[in-house]
Amino acid sequence: MKPLLLLSGCLALGVAGAAYAFGPSLPFIGGQAHAEAHSSPKAVALAHKTFIVQPPSPEAAREARAAEAEREKERAILLAAVEVREAARIRREAIENATAESVAHKRLPAYRSFQVDEPYIALTFDDGPNPSTTPRLLDILKERGVRATFFVLGSRAAQHPELLRRIAEEGHEIANHSWNHPQLPKLTVAAAEKQITDTDDAIFNATGQHAVYMRPPYGAMRGPLQDHLNKTLGISFIYWSIDPLDWKNRDPKLVHQRIVEQATPGAIVLAHDIHPTTVDAMPQVLDDLAAKGYRFGTLSQMVEMDKASNGKMATARAAKSAAAPAPVAQAPRAVARHQPVERAPQPAAAQRPASDLSPRTVTTTSIRPTPYAANRSANSALY
Ligand SMILES: [Zn+2]
Repeated sequence: MKPLLLLSGCLALGVAGAAYAFGPSLPFIGGQAHAEAHSSPKAVALAHKTFIVQPPSPEAAREARAAEAEREKERAILLAAVEVREAARIRREAIENATAESVAHKRLPAYRSFQVDEPYIALTFDDGPNPSTTPRLLDILKERGVRATFFVLGSRAAQHPELLRRIAEEGHEIANHSWNHPQLPKLTVAAAEKQITDTDDAIFNATGQHAVYMRPPYGAMRGPLQDHLNKTLGISFIYWSIDPLDWKNRDPKLVHQRIVEQATPGAIVLAHDIHPTTVDAMPQVLDDLAAKGYRFGTLSQMVEMDKASNGKMATARAAKSAAAPAPVAQAPRAVARHQPVERAPQPAAAQRPASDLSPRTVTTTSIRPTPYAANRSANSALY
């Protein structure tokens, strides 16, 4: 009997040892072993809870994943809505600030030229930036210390932010020429606004500056639409007084001749930096105009000098305070009929406060709407 008893004892010890050793990986047996070790009902329940963990069924796992994906989607939608609201708030604030600043900046709804005492001309270049032509033009302007205004397309600005930064850094002004050059009056009002705001976003993303001037593609505009965009987006519209038709006649000599012959103080020259022939014409254009005594200003500089802006602002203020209908203002183009000054003018810095012509002034722009409803309605008939 003794050997049999001994064998039974060894078997019992073996089972207990195995149960102890593999307890955690053998849930049922281990659970039992621990339950026996801790005999209270609570300990038994805990032991079962600890060790008997059923893996979720494939179906339950799928449902859990789907629910999580759904929650993720809802979070993304909420986040996007917050971003849209935030963007709208920022734009609204910019326009409200602009309204407050507009009197100080004296901008009018639209310009075709400027009324200036000194022989300044505004050179404007449309449709860029173009990496194969714009840098060469920038070199030409830089060599001569000339500042100009670039009416960029948003689609191209978004592709070449480095070019936009160079334009701004070299003291030129960047203005808005729509996203992809449509005829704005043929679009819905919302689509026309989007052409402008998307372009402004591209300009802002590249340079940290907003554009305050807009030239509608082809000069195509209707008075009511211009009034609306001026009022809601705070932009002034810029047309031109000298058109060398450089897009049509790709001939540097013709382009040069047309600009130099038509030049008058306060003129706005329309050109296109995307055409190599226009860039070819520029060195001679700049040198000949400089020889005639002309100097060059960005649009912001020209507006600062513009006597028509000051006069109209005063008129509008008077009309507003008297609660009388606004008088029809004179078009700026009616005033720039001076002959070119033959002698070379004094350095600009000596004639005007240095800050007027500093690069900081040139590039520091923000959305600032044109001021007065009275002036807007008066001018809409003129442009
Ligand atoms: Zn254009």
